[in-house]
Amino acid sequence: MKKALLVIDYTEDFVAVEGALTCGAPGIALEGYIAKLTQQFIDEKEAVVFAVDVHDENDPYHPETRLFPPHNLSGTAGREPFRSLKQLYEDNKDAIHWMDKTRYSAFAGTNLEIWLRARGIQEIHLVGVCTDICILHTSVDAYNKGFTTFVHERGVASFDTTGHEWALRHFENTLGATVIR
Ligand code: ZN
Repeated sequence: MKKALLVIDYTEDFVAVEGALTCGAPGIALEGYIAKLTQQFIDEKEAVVFAVDVHDENDPYHPETRLFPPHNLSGTAGREPFRSLKQLYEDNKDAIHWMDKTRYSAFAGTNLEIWLRARGIQEIHLVGVCTDICILHTSVDAYNKGFTTFVHERGVASFDTTGHEWALRHFENTLGATVIR
């Protein structure tokens, strides 16, 4: 186990047409690529982490309560992996590590760093949504912690095209990540 695939917020609420805070068509278009890459990491016995946002409705102490409509609420179908990723997860629970997160970055308030270090994993691969929010913040933390980061262009998307393009440049030019095109 030398590398980890982090599938970030690829859930019904963030991706489906009727999702509570959906990225929409650009997010839906990632399904095949993310499913294939996830299967590839599983087959190669590499680590796979599903990092998934979780919130309590109207939490007065959470900064996102003021910023976004309720999404990925605890215990709701909105938190389920999008479409085929749900079955993939159900079929591979021993190989896919589910990790709840409450902030944009998968490292914020989680044990992700210690989980990766314990397995000697230095190389992380990022897919999911949104490119310029949760992927970006996770990538910034990975940079500060010294991980080697790969962002898969065909595996990330945003509702904001300008933000998506900006973030791809930022990964490469400022965070030293490799964007796989
Ligand atoms: Zn959130």
